[in-house]
Amino acid sequence: MDEELHVGIDLGTTYSSVAFIDEEGNPVIETNMEGEGETPSVVFFDPSGGTVVGSEAKARLISYPEDTISGVKRKIGSSFKYTIGGKVYTPVEVSTIILEKLIGDFRKTKGMPVNKAVVTVPAYFGDKEREQTRDAALKAGIRDVELINEPTAAAIAYGYGNRAGGHKRIMVYDLGGGTFDVTILDLEGDCFTAVATDGLRALGGNDWDERLRRLLMDKIAEASATPISILEDDIYLQSEMTIKAEKIKIRLSSEELAHDTITLDNGMKIGFEVSRQEFEEHTSDLLEESFEKVEEVLRHARCSTYDLDAILLVGGSSRMPMVAAGMRKRFPDVRLDIFDPLYAVAKGAAVYAGRDKTGVKMRNVLSKTFGIKVSDGTGGYRISNVIFRNHTLPYSASALFNPEEDGQMSIVVEIYESSAVDGEKHTDIEDATYVDRFDMMLPEASSLDTRIVVEFTANVEGILTAVAKCGKKQGHQTVTAEVEQKEGEE
Ligand code: ADP
Ligand code: MG
Repeated sequence: MDEELHVGIDLGTTYSSVAFIDEEGNPVIETNMEGEGETPSVVFFDPSGGTVVGSEAKARLISYPEDTISGVKRKIGSSFKYTIGGKVYTPVEVSTIILEKLIGDFRKTKGMPVNKAVVTVPAYFGDKEREQTRDAALKAGIRDVELINEPTAAAIAYGYGNRAGGHKRIMVYDLGGGTFDVTILDLEGDCFTAVATDGLRALGGNDWDERLRRLLMDKIAEASATPISILEDDIYLQSEMTIKAEKIKIRLSSEELAHDTITLDNGMKIGFEVSRQEFEEHTSDLLEESFEKVEEVLRHARCSTYDLDAILLVGGSSRMPMVAAGMRKRFPDVRLDIFDPLYAVAKGAAVYAGRDKTGVKMRNVLSKTFGIKVSDGTGGYRISNVIFRNHTLPYSASALFNPEEDGQMSIVVEIYESSAVDGEKHTDIEDATYVDRFDMMLPEASSLDTRIVVEFTANVEGILTAVAKCGKKQGHQTVTAEVEQKEGEE
């Protein structure tokens, strides 16, 4: 058989996409059997057996809520179970069904199977979520699965990461269907590090749809002289208007005005129209929420927009003109990159899949620096750092300390984490977060000169053990540290 295509899969909360690298070396989105570039991540379980994935399933979300699953990505990594028609399904199984549809359609349209793919995951996904995503892909028949962070994939699609040299700091603003993620990425050549990541798990295009749906319902109520409460009780109308609202929202991204009609229960046909301006006025507070989060993430990363080389607009909802316009107004001095936001993640994953990976490896690094609380010599305290963030795991380091007083019987070792960079010996206590503590007895007749060795060891998964030793005495504590995946060699 021919050489296999390089495939990237964006397994999204609301929509999923598959991209591949074409003969010219460009990433291209492959459409599903319905001719769509994005497949709704919704599964309908037909009571007579069998499953339907995509738009058809999405259309049944409101009328058949008991037989339909959406948003499974929110449950991946947890022990949650779905029960449908008396049968139990795990999030992995549901994700597998979605992936089977994606790669099944790919096989049918391109005439070749997907044996190998890069699948994207949010930067904040922990080990469990990553493991289960990989599991779902393996179960769907992809033999060689590689995971990559969504913001990293988006940055690659935007052309970052394959340029020679230079340090860059960028922000990825990803406004999807049901979630909003903000990540600050540092890149050095083709090596990406997530410096900060946060978001709003319940903000996305769905909220814009719901606002628009309510606005349209008000218009219909007025035009038909029907109380809104009666219209809202009509489940069929509600389902139809939810679907229409999303379609009209999408139309308003390229048109200033949209109209449509609906036939009510009593046969009455109602026409209605809505302008982009009206839509934007009814949703401006949602956009504002996302901007506040952006500012919070900047604060947490202790940087400002001046430190950013660019903000990348990603996610289907970033196609709404109000997003880029609002961004320019709010953050006028940052360069904005916006190009194919809905497909950036899938395309970046495909580019990554096709990259010459000699020398490029995934490795785990600590996201935080860890140290212990010590006296600062002036009656206060500060953190003396022992093990630094951004080091490839496994990794261990030790430091020497002394008791604070002659004849001290015991010490309390308090572990703190911070964002200190390598070499920053001390961190102000206000800039550090308490993690855990342990007590340890000191040998008899200890003095100010008694040496206490504190050793921190972090394994590949980020399990961090702190051991303090002094003579024959010893104490220790184990904590779980946050780990990031980083591409590139150290
Ligand atoms: P997720 O990754 O959360 O699944 P996506 O990035 O795929 O989300 O974005 C899906 C969202 O983007 C949906 O709410 C959809 O309605 C919205 N969307 C897609 N295209 C457009 C458009 N042209 N204008 C406005 N919203 C859009
Ligand atoms: Mg997404």
